[in-house]
Amino acid sequence: MPQNEITGRCYCGATRLSASGPASVAYCHCTDCRRWTGAPVTAWVGVADATVALMPAPAPISVTEGVTRWACPACGSPLAARFSYLPGQTWLAMGTLDQAASLTPTLHCYAGEALPWLHIADDLPREQASGHEVL
Ligand SMILES: [Zn+2]
Ligand SMILES: [Zn+2]
Repeated sequence: MPQNEITGRCYCGATRLSASGPASVAYCHCTDCRRWTGAPVTAWVGVADATVALMPAPAPISVTEGVTRWACPACGSPLAARFSYLPGQTWLAMGTLDQAASLTPTLHCYAGEALPWLHIADDLPREQASGHEVL
């Protein structure tokens, strides 16, 4: 688990974020994350809620019960999410982070929902569901 100061920003720069490690890093192949980000797979960096600042704080978006997401109100970049089955953790969208190159995923979540043409050649564990037991 990397001990990191984590910083990032949205596409347009109107919303910035900061957090600090230790961080858990995982891919999510679920259809909700896919639709929200528009990407075939999402990578997330999980940190303690109390370390996270979104500046200025966007309004929360909640569509699926137990899941809250935050995006930049100006450009729509997905920034962060919380999942009720992962209490105390906020998950930051990897693509917005300045330290993305050094935050290496250790797990695939919802591997059963992965797109059939997507082949990530690693030996990481593949959880068929959320992986909340190990995150
Ligand atoms: Zn923005
Ligand atoms: Zn997901």
